[in-house]
Parts: sequence; C-alpha cells; structure tokens
Amino acid sequence: MLSLRGVHKSYDGTPALRPVDVELVAGELVVLTGPSGSGKSTLLMIAGGWETPDGGEVVPHPPLPDLPVERMSWQDLGFVPQSISLFEELTLADNLALARGGPGGGELLEALELGHLAERRPGEVSRGEQQRVAVARALVASPALVIADEPTSHQDHRRADLVLGLLRAAADRGAAVLIASHDPAVVSRADREIRLGADAVTRG
Ligand code: ATP
Ligand code: MG
Repeated sequence: MLSLRGVHKSYDGTPALRPVDVELVAGELVVLTGPSGSGKSTLLMIAGGWETPDGGEVVPHPPLPDLPVERMSWQDLGFVPQSISLFEELTLADNLALARGGPGGGELLEALELGHLAERRPGEVSRGEQQRVAVARALVASPALVIADEPTSHQDHRRADLVLGLLRAAADRGAAVLIASHDPAVVSRADREIRLGADAVTRG
C-alpha cells in the first residue's frame, strides 16, 4: 500500500525522526509507539504527505494511485491529526461532507455517539467529540489508507473502544491503518507494532 524507506527529518540540525523503514499493507492495523518526542507525529505527517522528509522515499502502491501522497484525496487517505484540525466555520456534518465529497456519514456519526451534534460547529462541542469527528472524517470516504495520530487521546474507555472498533473494522475491510498511540488498548488490537527509539529525544 505504502512504503517508507529510510525517511528521516531534522529541525535546525536536531533529529525529529531517525531513519526508519515502514511497509504498510492492506488489511493490517499497525501501531506506532515510542516516547514523546521520538518522532511518531513526524513520521505520520511524512506518510500522509503533510511534511517532506529530508531524505528517503515515500512510495505508494495500488490500490493507492501513483501520485505523490501530498496530492491524494480523502478517498485515498484518511488522516486524524494529533491537532484534530476541523473546519471551525462548518458544522460537524459539513466537515464530513467535505471529506466524503457529498452528504452522508450519518451512520458513522451515530456509531461515534455524535448524531445529536451533527449541526453544531466544532467550537460548540467538547475536545473528545471533536476528536471523534476527526475519526469519522478520516473514515467517511472509505479510504484505502488511514493514518491516525493518538486518535483515542481525548476519549474515555468506552468511546476509545468505539474509535478503535471502527479503525479495526477499516483494516478488516482491507484498508491499511497506521496509528500512533500510547494507549495499551490500541496496542492490544494491532496486528503489528513499530517502536521508535528513545535515541531520537537525546539532545546535544
Ligand atoms: P508525542 O508523543 O509527544 O506526540 P511524537 O513522538 O509525536 O511526540 P514529534 O511530534 O514527531 O514526536 O516530534 C519529534 C521531535 O521533533 C520533538 O523533539 C519535537 O520537539 C520536534 N519537532 C516536531 N515538529 C517540529 C517543528 N515544526 N519544529 C521544530 N521541532 C519540531
Ligand atoms: Mg505526536
């Protein structure tokens, strides 16, 4: 689905991500773990095309189109950023419609216990609810690749289970799913774990 080969990145000469290889395949849920500052978010941003690596390659394979990942649509690649990043001017339903390319996604909102909030704007719901909308947005167009950065960080146990169940279901229907998380519940439902080293946080 997507190969990352030797990707690495530094800011002002300080490594944010040491060279790493990651192979994502259809139907697999992979969890990315490692200490705070080890480069998990940096790796996900590179995998999704939001950051450019200093070196290494990001190579999509079918069913992803043969494009640079930064030109992929929500139909190809669903992303849950650590920062959540919804459109503040749009209702929750319209945030989903934008990703889906049309109305729909009601079932997903219901499954995440957000159905009654569909017409509110992000500023009118809690952080945890915003995060679940970001998960719904990532899944609403049934993309081949799903990348989620700590998607349960603002959830209670029960809602974390709902989020995780949907991400697991996406993998089971054939998506490749890459999740950065410290949550043992996420690790326990992953097919594979990739650990980023503590070295990446060593300074000086
Ligand atoms: P966390 O578990 O806290 O989310 P992380 O593993 O996701 O951490 P990253 O956000 O990838 O870590 O950051 C890796 C390192 O790169 C950190 O030391 C961070 O301070 C640094 N870093 C990230 N983005 C930038 C930036 N835009 N400018 C400078 N340094 C950055
Ligand atoms: Mg992070």
